Amino acid sequence: MKIEQENSITEQTAVQETVLKGIAAASGIEIGIALVVGNAPDQPLSFYETSPVSISEQDVPFELARFEAALEATRNEITEICNKVKVSLDENEAGIFEAHLLIVEDKKLKKEVVSGIQDKLLTAESAFSLIMQRYITAISSVADPYLKERAADVVDVAGRILGHLLGWKRSLLDHLPGQRIVVAKELTPSDTVMLDRENVQAFATETGAKTSHSAILARSMRIPAVVGIPGILSKVHNGDVMIIDGYQGVVILNPTPQTLEAYALKEAENAKIYNDLLTESTQRSETLDGYRVALAANLDDPNKADELEKYGAFGVGLFRTEYLFLKDHIPTEEEQYEVYSALASRCGAAPVVIRTLDLGGDKISSLINFVQEPNPFLGLRSVRLCLAYPHLLKPQLRAILRAGVHGNICMMFPMLTCVDELDDLLRILEQIKEDLRREKIRFAEDIKVGVMIETPAAALSADQFAERCDFLSIGTNDLVQYTMAVDRGNERVASLYRPLHPVILRLIRHIVKSAEQAGIWVSICGEMAADPMYIPLLLGLGVRELSMSPVSLAPAKHVVRSMKYIDAEAVAERALLCSSQEEVQELAQVFLRMIAPGVSDLNIT
Ligand code: PEP
Ligand code: MG
Repeated sequence: MKIEQENSITEQTAVQETVLKGIAAASGIEIGIALVVGNAPDQPLSFYETSPVSISEQDVPFELARFEAALEATRNEITEICNKVKVSLDENEAGIFEAHLLIVEDKKLKKEVVSGIQDKLLTAESAFSLIMQRYITAISSVADPYLKERAADVVDVAGRILGHLLGWKRSLLDHLPGQRIVVAKELTPSDTVMLDRENVQAFATETGAKTSHSAILARSMRIPAVVGIPGILSKVHNGDVMIIDGYQGVVILNPTPQTLEAYALKEAENAKIYNDLLTESTQRSETLDGYRVALAANLDDPNKADELEKYGAFGVGLFRTEYLFLKDHIPTEEEQYEVYSALASRCGAAPVVIRTLDLGGDKISSLINFVQEPNPFLGLRSVRLCLAYPHLLKPQLRAILRAGVHGNICMMFPMLTCVDELDDLLRILEQIKEDLRREKIRFAEDIKVGVMIETPAAALSADQFAERCDFLSIGTNDLVQYTMAVDRGNERVASLYRPLHPVILRLIRHIVKSAEQAGIWVSICGEMAADPMYIPLLLGLGVRELSMSPVSLAPAKHVVRSMKYIDAEAVAERALLCSSQEEVQELAQVFLRMIAPGVSDLNIT
């Protein structure tokens, strides 16, 4: 943390400390300065009531640029309205908006705000709010009824400008003025994937839950995060000092010096426990009674492949390719081929499971998901989208097949519900292989093809899927969502999202049995695989491969190495007979505390 930030921490600790509870999304503790983005653009005027927030001199150019951008966006918005009104109503009505444009262009207003930022060292919204407050009070107090009415116009325009200043999320995230804790109503997966770890110390959001894709990304980017915090936007102001505790899902605003000290200590202790676990990463992944477990990594960013060795991953159990599509263009076959073959070469003989495009739900690409759906998690998601637009799928299948000659690549189809979808996909795959043969392009003829089991329909027909493919991988994030009918990203129903419900365990058991009967392997690549408390249960149910975010591998390996398979099997048998998540949780907690108390206390997410 930089010196001036440390100073401001000390200055601000006199303010009342407030503890906010949310959902722990990514482990770690960070202490820093809040930067609020996307703040309630629906009610920007409420910002007038908040107290002014100061900045340091080095933040001035950033605040000036934000103000300019907000003016520009407002100008464009009003011009567009004006043009529409001219067509649909008449010139007179449009005149109102032309007057609004004049307010945006007002040189005096602009000069005063610029001076507020430059001379008084205020954030753009603070400087703007203070000046607008003065203007509006002055206009409202004049006797002339015509002028009095103009106050409404000023309020309208001011609201728009402020809305852009406070809701200017993406650009703001791209230009952070140094290290900050980002506070937002929502960070979508495409916002999160663009975050720069150098500048974003941590984040806290009003929406979201533990298995929403932004939370998964935070874990993989190692950005501590707390999500699903009700009303956080109305409680935090730019410049507030805050602590993010990603272990416990707690945010502390304006902490006292005692709290700051306690958290600094806690972070040091946790770091020590984690580093001790890391020393085990080169050891065999085997239980005390010799049950071998493959521990692989989930990757969303191919550049993270460097970390596989450090964390002791045996290959990649899930490469989420959709993040290649959430950037500024749809990657070509050649671009995808480069990425997949580099990953395969890096992993040598270890398997690299490349999942085909899984866009939709909360992973929305403005290039591809251009139709807004009322219920995207039940809409044209994933393979449904790919089957509807084969031009998206075919270059990807070609790229994966071609990259297969550089290593041990497997291909995996997500989000299937019925076997006929798999039959369609396999037919397309055969056609593509035929094309490649005809074009005399080298590819992996015998590439292994797997299926993700993440809907109840697929789980219940796991036997039929198992007959048609080489492996199954259980996507518990979605399997829990669709089985419990609970949106995985909705904090309001987060307590109903129950991975340990016996119903889920029974489905997993059925999938494992189906794979065993067909003689194929089965893994779990959903977030359940990464939770130390769930691991003994999953192994006890017969799962032999777990794939997770690299940072979760060290605690997972420690759990595997601390338990006996035979005991885990007994716990799993008992869990299958339970009737509630609470009962299973109790069993799992007691077991974890017994075999690995250090990991249990750490509460790693
Ligand atoms: C899952 O659903 O468990 C899974 C691994 O896929 P994703 O989280 O990308 O939807
Ligand atoms: Mg999924």
